[in-house]
Amino acid sequence: MKFEKNNHKLAIHGGPKIRTKLFPFYQTIGQEEIKAVSSVLKTGVLSKYLGAWHEDFYGGPEVRRLEKEWAKYFGVKHAISVNSATSGLYCAVGACGLGPGDEVIVSPYSMCISASAPLVYNAIPVFADIEKDFFCIDPESVESKITERTKAIIAVDIFGQPYDADKINAIAKKHNLYVIEDAAQAPGAEYKGRMAGTLGDIGVYSLNYHKHIHTGEGGMVVTDNDELAEKVRLIRNHAEAVVGDKGYSSLVNMIGFNFRMTEVEAAIARVQLKKLDKLLEARLKNVEYLSEKFSKFPFLEPAKVRPQCKHVFYKHPLKYKEEVVGVSRNKFIEAVKAELMPMESRENQGVLIGCGYVKPLYLLPLYQKLIGFGDKGCPFKCSFYKGKLDYSEGLCPVTEKMHNKELITHDLMTPPFKKKDLDDLISAFGKVYDNISELKK
Ligand SMILES: *Cc1c(COP(=O)(O)O)cnc(C)c1O
Repeated sequence: MKFEKNNHKLAIHGGPKIRTKLFPFYQTIGQEEIKAVSSVLKTGVLSKYLGAWHEDFYGGPEVRRLEKEWAKYFGVKHAISVNSATSGLYCAVGACGLGPGDEVIVSPYSMCISASAPLVYNAIPVFADIEKDFFCIDPESVESKITERTKAIIAVDIFGQPYDADKINAIAKKHNLYVIEDAAQAPGAEYKGRMAGTLGDIGVYSLNYHKHIHTGEGGMVVTDNDELAEKVRLIRNHAEAVVGDKGYSSLVNMIGFNFRMTEVEAAIARVQLKKLDKLLEARLKNVEYLSEKFSKFPFLEPAKVRPQCKHVFYKHPLKYKEEVVGVSRNKFIEAVKAELMPMESRENQGVLIGCGYVKPLYLLPLYQKLIGFGDKGCPFKCSFYKGKLDYSEGLCPVTEKMHNKELITHDLMTPPFKKKDLDDLISAFGKVYDNISELKK
């Protein structure tokens, strides 16, 4: 697309915007959910859990139906509902028996809890770098970080792309490590015909408001391992109050929490799960259209999909080539955003295009100051921990390069986006590129 330079001054310099209307809202909640919630409300039983060894220890009817349906859809033996993916990751770390002195290899480029979950059990996150094409944890880097203290790997299916399960799982097997899969961004993604979330020993999905399908807040844990599943169920519901009466002898990490999902959210989740396929289909169609158009720009490289995989694009990643443009990514994206509009119901978040994703996690104050529980450096300075911490800048060069210079992520492809909406996004990139001399002044 070409723009007349004189008539189309960049919006960032006071010219007319490409788009003046908000982008459409990703609204997945409808009459079906309202009906499902009403039925629960009419029963008056909004949660049926008992935090004691009793038949209701495993929750009420909606929770149990959801867990059955989720397990069936994802082709896994156990699905366990929780109140968030954060809770689910705590359960997974706890169930794997991690504790003081242990190391867990994690990705620095994810939502913060993908790395900090081990800390809750006093285990130490060790950061491996990411793959430059797929942004998931890099097998070679993982292998280089293994010590005799390593007990697990948390592999994230970042942006909806499955991690390199063959290689990471082989490393885990060789060193006798658990693989915890954070599939919060990847429900419906596939790796060689297997569902993301089920690729490791235990997997976690999120049902928070920003994810593909949601219940407001919520999460699901899946595993084929009976023992891990039972531990997750215990941790979810006040394990310490139950293990005695249940006659459960292993007390490791059996201080419980209340991570229970209510009947209301479970009812919503059951309806949302039925919508997942259609929502994915519409999203992927939009991404395909965008990737095709974006790939024509000499300065953009749309996300690669790992061979034999299905990517579900929680975000649509693009790589920016500064050497082609002669202007930094941040400056370019600032100008693109000025041409566009926010999304309905998320107006206060601005235009949903990001320079990179999150700050590499080891640069967060938690790791820089080593203040976790209390003010004495626990668990980083725990006397059971014999390793050497490294959270210094430069630790993961690929991650830092992606974040500081190359990666662009955006949300502007969710249903019900139409061709016109997608074209506005493409035109904004095109207009800025065609008028790049304005930015160089
Ligand atoms: C959203 C997200 C989480 C946390 O999910 P919650 O349900 O909000 O706790 C964890 N990991 C990743 C990769 C996420 O995107």
